Amino acid sequence: MAPAGREFRLYRYSGLLCRHDLLVRVDRPAYPNADQGAEDAADDFADSAAEHLRGWWARRLLPRDCSREHRDRLLGTMDGEPPTEDTLDGPGLRRCRVWVARHGDSEWLVLGEATSEEEFWRAVAEDDGREPDRPAVAHDVYLLADEDGRGDLRDA
Ligand SMILES: [Zn+2]
Repeated sequence: MAPAGREFRLYRYSGLLCRHDLLVRVDRPAYPNADQGAEDAADDFADSAAEHLRGWWARRLLPRDCSREHRDRLLGTMDGEPPTEDTLDGPGLRRCRVWVARHGDSEWLVLGEATSEEEFWRAVAEDDGREPDRPAVAHDVYLLADEDGRGDLRDA
């Protein structure tokens, strides 16, 4: 059985003179290991949730900050929980600063909310996973998650 999991996807919306980073947190249901169809369906659940959330953000929240045209692209994905304190576990609909490091040229990232790059690397060192490449880069992101349908748009 592959357990239920969590993914963070980092997107960038770029205009001529601006850029806006969006971090989407989605959950992926558990599935039986030997069942490719179920694995595809679990991945598609996470894909569909991420598309739904970022579409809403681009239609409703981004235009309040910036009315320019934007091109968007996926900067990368983190599989699982951040190495830092679990501040990214709670409600989204908010801005925060995350540190982002990459595994080589792959799409796989390690990211976490930290007050400094040093704090970020301390958390990474204490984590079990394979260390990503240095340096880490700070991104000011808007965090959005599945559960934010229970949140409050006054704070958005
Ligand atoms: Zn813009």
